[in-house]
Amino acid sequence: MLELATEQGKPLTEMDLADSPLAIRGLTVSYGEKPAVFSVDMTVQPGSMTAIIGPNGAGKSTLLKAALGVIKPLSGQVQVFGRPLDEQRAQIAYVPQRASVDWEFPTRVIDVVVMGLYRDVGLMGRLRKQHISRAQACLARVGMEDFADRQIGQLSGGQQQRVFLARALAQNAAIYLLDEPFAGVDAATEKAIISVLQSLRAEGKTVVAVHHDLATVAEYFDNVFLINTRKIAEGTVADAFTAETLQATYGGRLATAQVDQLALALG
Ligand code: ADP
Ligand code: MG
Repeated sequence: MLELATEQGKPLTEMDLADSPLAIRGLTVSYGEKPAVFSVDMTVQPGSMTAIIGPNGAGKSTLLKAALGVIKPLSGQVQVFGRPLDEQRAQIAYVPQRASVDWEFPTRVIDVVVMGLYRDVGLMGRLRKQHISRAQACLARVGMEDFADRQIGQLSGGQQQRVFLARALAQNAAIYLLDEPFAGVDAATEKAIISVLQSLRAEGKTVVAVHHDLATVAEYFDNVFLINTRKIAEGTVADAFTAETLQATYGGRLATAQVDQLALALG
């Protein structure tokens, strides 16, 4: 597996490292005794869309959270445009795995999107007209402009997912990390989300998404990062998304349905 990683990964010079929007080195994260992510290197290419792929429990969400700095790693470093993560948090916007968000108390859609503006507004700052109109514009970008005053808890899963994306857009970051953005959403939402992500890429922004649908990897993404606690492979879809790397990632756990999808995806 280590050989695979070396073969598929692109060795980078120091220059490249500084240019990378998100570079991770030697990252190990552990919740208990067994590491969830072990000694992982990742170098995200600027202005690209990267899919993080791996079985359940492979450490995909943990990798994203460590890249955001919300989980403290046992060891390793995260660099954002060649600088330590701590100085660069504002550059990263995050759309969490939807199942992990639970709206216990009533919250309006527009208020969720305004949360993305907290760096501009400031903790004690006043919300101004311009903030609200920017939040409205972000809602419009995901096709949710008519839902601003609705309670988030009353929306469908797909609609909620679009609102979370609008919140990330409001942050106006350079890097977008999304955790299974297409899980359990309707086809219209999937289309809306992918078209927003593609427009971000066209603006030169960088998108990294945990992606569970092997059949759409080649259509949606430029690069893949395969993980099963350790990095299995990293590179362009053409180079690193192969029967060999998928076998190494999923082992015997690749279900028949996924194998069928794969046969389709790989031609
Ligand atoms: P994935 O997103 O690939 O499904 P996760 O990153 O969520 O995987 O989890 C990786 C491993 O870490 C799993 O074994 C999971 O059970 C464990 N894990 C995740 N979050 C926690 C947590 N908060 N406390 C303890 N163990 C956790
Ligand atoms: Mg996960």
